[in-house]
Amino acid sequence: VSTSTIAAAIAVILAIGLVVTVGVASLLSGAFHFLFARPSLVFLLPKNRETGFAFGLKWNSAREPAKFDKVKLRLFNPFGNPTQVEVSREFPAQGSSFGTEVEMGEAMTKFWQSQGFDRALVQIEISSLRDGLTQQFEMRGAKFKEKFHAASITVDQFQSKNKIEKTKPLYNTVERSFIADPLPQTNKVLKLATNPVFADSFAAPAAGAAKAQGDADNNFAVSKVWIDPGCIVCDACEAIYPQVFEVQSDTCVIRPDAPLTNGLLIQDAAEACPVEVIKFTKAS
Ligand code: SF4
Repeated sequence: VSTSTIAAAIAVILAIGLVVTVGVASLLSGAFHFLFARPSLVFLLPKNRETGFAFGLKWNSAREPAKFDKVKLRLFNPFGNPTQVEVSREFPAQGSSFGTEVEMGEAMTKFWQSQGFDRALVQIEISSLRDGLTQQFEMRGAKFKEKFHAASITVDQFQSKNKIEKTKPLYNTVERSFIADPLPQTNKVLKLATNPVFADSFAAPAAGAAKAQGDADNNFAVSKVWIDPGCIVCDACEAIYPQVFEVQSDTCVIRPDAPLTNGLLIQDAAEACPVEVIKFTKAS
């Protein structure tokens, strides 16, 4: 047998050994987690023993990341009355081991007063609505009652014992100040007529006024204005200069008292006429 064959055989054996080792380690890790690192539920002493339910939940949040925000108590009571009771409430989401007390409301009274409670099955579900993860615990009613009444530490004591920070309130009071903070410095400037940066923007109206003055200087009077046949009664001329043009049912006419001093406006109306039937002569 050659040396290379022996080396290859050793390599294969080592590779198989490595795979087997990793597999066994993985199995042992899973078994360890199943046996010793499962989520645990602790019954805590509620402030309201009638309708409150206080509990602590510990789990490996690194392995099972979730934010738990709902607790549901179910009573399966096939030999009692009522045969089933369910009460659930939401609470502020918790992303790692926590303790909390939840006010379950009047339904909790019905839960406790069920006939045959001790023999019934109680299911406690703590779930994350957002992450779709549920931790479930089951026990007989008698056991549930025993744990509930045996609870001796409060939520606060549980939190401090397990070095858990207190739950932050759902809403924080906003700090308000009625004195405005100074505006941040920017290169932006207000667009005002008095601001020299925008002098050109506000020069346009002034230019328009100058143009109007120029137009006034160039205006002229007309000696005669009339309408040739062919008016299509579109109203354009009357819209421009109603003191001169009057559109009737079948044609446009010139008003008897029409002012003839604003030749520019009459010219505008003539240019707007789609069939060019408005005629005029300038006064000499
Ligand atoms: S603009 Fe011309 S077509 Fe229109 S109503 Fe006046 S004259 Fe008639």
